[in-house]
Amino acid sequence: MGSVAKLARKSLCSRLRAFSSAATDGKPSGGVCFELSDEQKEIQDLARKFTRDEIIPKAAEYDRTMEYPWDIVKKAWSVGLTNSSIPKHCGGVEMGVFEGCLIAEELAYGCSGMKTAIEGSGLGQTPVILAGNKEQQKKFLGRLLEEPLVTAYCVTEAGAGSDVNGVKTRAEKKGDEYIINGQKMWITNAGVANWYFVLVRTDPDSKCPANKAFSGFIVERDTPGVTPGRKEINMGQRCSDTRGITFEDVRVPKENLLLGEGAGFKIAMGAFDKTRPGVASGATGVAQRALDEATKYSLERKTFGVPIANHQAVAFMLADMAINIETARLAWKMAAWQTDNGIRNSYFSSIAKAHAGDIANKCVSDAVQIFGGAGFNSEYPVEKLMRDAKIYQIYEGTSQIQRLVISRHLIESFKEKA
Ligand SMILES: Cc1cc2nc3c(=O)[nH]c(=O)nc-3n(C[C@H](O)[C@H](O)[C@H](O)COP(=O)(O)OP(=O)(O)OC[C@H]3O[C@@H](n4cnc5c(N)ncnc54)[C@H](O)[C@@H]3O)c2cc1C
Repeated sequence: MGSVAKLARKSLCSRLRAFSSAATDGKPSGGVCFELSDEQKEIQDLARKFTRDEIIPKAAEYDRTMEYPWDIVKKAWSVGLTNSSIPKHCGGVEMGVFEGCLIAEELAYGCSGMKTAIEGSGLGQTPVILAGNKEQQKKFLGRLLEEPLVTAYCVTEAGAGSDVNGVKTRAEKKGDEYIINGQKMWITNAGVANWYFVLVRTDPDSKCPANKAFSGFIVERDTPGVTPGRKEINMGQRCSDTRGITFEDVRVPKENLLLGEGAGFKIAMGAFDKTRPGVASGATGVAQRALDEATKYSLERKTFGVPIANHQAVAFMLADMAINIETARLAWKMAAWQTDNGIRNSYFSSIAKAHAGDIANKCVSDAVQIFGGAGFNSEYPVEKLMRDAKIYQIYEGTSQIQRLVISRHLIESFKEKA
């Protein structure tokens, strides 16, 4: 890292550190206030400027080549826009989920593929932040602050996506080690990560309940027997690195087990309460970009002698996009605020994620509509947005799974009240 970048990062980090301790002070940070603090505005401005200067100019090219955007990831790291949740005792800034979401929304506005490349590492770190002991955190999270490395979260398998209980990758204890065998699928950052969070079955009894059957391990990428597969060619977010991974007799020291045998399912699912608000804010960023592009175009493009924005049918499409975006933003803010204040937020995280995923898809589709024929063409920006948005209804729990969480929660709450 160059010295100017080092200084810039150091000063941002110390300001963020001071901010995060002042903001929380170990207590809930206030009631209803819709205004960002000065520090939050500063974080947002930094991410917005980075997006404008670094991400937007390169987004189309990375989409075309599908290369992993290492130069962007490294620059984001050097200015302090990655690893925002790493605890202070590891040297991190330990920002709130809320501030992480502010960054995610801005980055996704520029390119949600690059945002996934950066934030996918946050997903891999979250189980270690939630359940790692001090030594594990220092070793594996501290490393990410020393150089621009990324991590991955490995849960999904060919037979286990929505139904995590179907995970077949297994670990057997032999002396002071566990031996892992199995295959993961659709793993973001699989080919570029330095280490992985891996969910495995440690109880071979198929009748064992999920909250006892699985364990979570930290696995170094360079352990013999770990083999990432070929890069998947996806519909959108094409510069993000998605691959399967094979684990063949992979020996992992028992020190890399998180919490203890049987705790894996809770850790893996608990991570989503922290990360789904960030996925929702990313989807909101994509939707906002669609609205901005569509508004600009609707003022430039004329039909029947007037800008198309003057046709009420077009103006109302813009208005509907705005309604959806503003409510999606409020929802991720609520979900993030809850988790930062120690309030169980599964219900709101699912609402935020489902709503933002759905409205992002509606907004990008309407933006294509407003662009007419040009919207269908790859020379214009909205075609990429439409391809990129779809994944927000799929990863980190599909829109249907979010509705499962929401409906279960509301039925339980109703019964409790009755
Ligand atoms: C680009 C990309 C990146 C990814 N990154 C990661 C990653 O980093 N780490 C990781 O572990 N995984 C990752 N995934 C996997 C992702 O989380 C899963 O694809 C997702 O959870 C859905 O699982 P599935 O693909 O097996 O679909 P399935 O579970 O087979 O679902 C198929 C369809 O059935 C519906 N469905 C399933 N069960 C129900 C139900 N009970 N009720 C109603 N509808 C239901 C689903 O909503 C969906 O529409 C990624 C996937 C992609 C495509």
